[in-house]
Amino acid sequence: IAAINKTGGGSTHPRRGQVIDFHRMIQDAVKVSSNGIALNSLNCDPDPSERLLKPLSAFIGMTGEMRELATVVSKDIYLHNPNVKWDDIIGLDAAKRLVKEAVVYPIRYPQLFTGILSPWKGLLLYGPPGTGKTLLAKAVATECNTTFFNISASTIVSKWRGDSEKLVRVLFELARYHAPSTIFLDELDSVMSQRGTISGGEHEGSRRMKTELLVQMDGLARSDDLVFVLAASNLPWELDSAMLRRLEKRILVDLPSKEARRVMIQHWLPPLSNSGGVELRTDLDYGLLGQETDGYSGSDIKLVCKEAAMRPVRKIFDALENHQPGNSNLPTIRLDTITTADFLDVIAHTKPSAKNLSQKYTAWQREFESV
Ligand code: ADP
Repeated sequence: IAAINKTGGGSTHPRRGQVIDFHRMIQDAVKVSSNGIALNSLNCDPDPSERLLKPLSAFIGMTGEMRELATVVSKDIYLHNPNVKWDDIIGLDAAKRLVKEAVVYPIRYPQLFTGILSPWKGLLLYGPPGTGKTLLAKAVATECNTTFFNISASTIVSKWRGDSEKLVRVLFELARYHAPSTIFLDELDSVMSQRGTISGGEHEGSRRMKTELLVQMDGLARSDDLVFVLAASNLPWELDSAMLRRLEKRILVDLPSKEARRVMIQHWLPPLSNSGGVELRTDLDYGLLGQETDGYSGSDIKLVCKEAAMRPVRKIFDALENHQPGNSNLPTIRLDTITTADFLDVIAHTKPSAKNLSQKYTAWQREFESV
């Protein structure tokens, strides 16, 4: 890569084929990170709300119907500030690194990602349910201040049936308008499966929507627009091969490791927490519990923690039940400490939701993942 030229560091990103000054960029990066100032704010708009003030009427050549759909997308599908930080995501170090490399750096340093390095526009996060795929997508949007469109594939079809194809078109148009943007397509397998749904014959509306999604993704791949599609699926092997080809970068978001499980339990059930003025104490062997929760997803573990925290609360329900409403002296509430035995008892009654599939994910990873 011998191409050298100045970009001038302006906020517009260079068109493909334009050459750039790697030396200066790297110097800038080093300089900025060494004094701890946020990186390259020129390319990451500090205030996403400003972008959103762009009036929809600026869409020229749009029919009234399309403009109506644009209003719907802006209201229902756009998420103002997902507010998820990288540190809120426990474990998943490899997945975080890959997501940063594929999406975050191209948004920060668009000049660097041109030509052979032009960014992946379609990224598939796959793995068991409740492992943090949605969190990762939200962290990208938060970190880069991109406009975030969060859409569940099954809702598009069920809610918008006949219009779902137009909705997809408007969604992508809005995403380009508000670029840099990320579009998060959840439950992708529910619309992009290989097999036809509904007793062999595929619903016409959903077929047209699939086609539109493919067309739009091709459009993105050919353009320099900073619009990224992050798709999530629990069943990647069911995805249509045409769709899969457009999601070139595939990242496994796996069940948490023993260490990650330990950290999660400690996070949700610390030794002392305060809920509505009532102290909740725990006395837990976190290491042991991390070990005993093999196969549980992040959301399973959260559920188990909640259930464990419920136990001492349940014990005082009786006392509250017998409390006379007329008597203003609420009995002093003191909750029992949650013990390791309590926790183990909860997991004996709450089985992990996705354990048996884990080999299927790694097999699929071997065959399809691009690193
Ligand atoms: P999915 O993979 O199905 O998109 P989500 O990202 O929606 O899963 O996770 C569901 C919930 O489970 C999250 O809101 C969070 O509370 C919890 N969770 C799952 N994985 C993690 C993780 N790695 N770190 C922190 N919380 C997690």
